[in-house]
Amino acid sequence: TDAVTLHALNVDHTGRPIHRRGVMLVLSSPSGAGKSTICRALLAEDPALRLSVSVTTRPPRAGEVDGRDYHFVSLERYRKMVEGDELLEHARVFDNFYGTPRQQVEDELSAGRDVLFDIDWQGTQQLTDKVPQDLVRVFILPPSTEELERRLRTRAQDPDDVVQRRMAKAADEMSHWAEYDYIVVNTDLDVAIARVRSILTAERLRRRRQLGMVDFVNAMRGEE
Ligand code: 5GP
Repeated sequence: TDAVTLHALNVDHTGRPIHRRGVMLVLSSPSGAGKSTICRALLAEDPALRLSVSVTTRPPRAGEVDGRDYHFVSLERYRKMVEGDELLEHARVFDNFYGTPRQQVEDELSAGRDVLFDIDWQGTQQLTDKVPQDLVRVFILPPSTEELERRLRTRAQDPDDVVQRRMAKAADEMSHWAEYDYIVVNTDLDVAIARVRSILTAERLRRRRQLGMVDFVNAMRGEE
């Protein structure tokens, strides 16, 4: 809990975090810009931050774990979730369907944690309409087109035609950069991680998020 307290940032004299609204941190980027690595690093070091695990209709890649990376679902199950309004946002990306289950997000936020979303621009637009207050949108850019292609190739998980299509899609995804609050160019991974961490820290300290601050300050003034 020390670590949780540390990341929750403002604590009172008893060490209890001052109640605040959670941050909904969205990370978007073209595939290959390093977003997943940045997400993993942030999650590993920060117990107050949880990944929103999306549902997807695409099959798992090597190394992906159901329930950790995604909830891998059938098209039928996905459609039921859409119809049942179980998804906070959902979109078709490439040839597959993706969506954010509403319940997990609500659970994490009400437990005082922040939620990280690894979603595309379509999902970001939907969340912008639904929860404008809590959303912090970060767009990760690769340092160049050449570097993006190199990264997509060395990753080598996807066949060549998929890489080509992802390059085309990358240009499309990047055209939405101006719809985000922060832009981080991932030239050096450690620097990019540090920058996104700074964004999260600053956003956690926003006055309007710190609902418990009124009582905290009033109690302090009363003591004088
Ligand atoms: P991948 O199949 O490579 O894991 O993800 C492809 C793209 O889908 C990525 O840009 C990722 O951010 C996006 N994505 C993953 N989950 C969701 C989701 O729940 N909603 C939306 N809108 N996009 C998602």
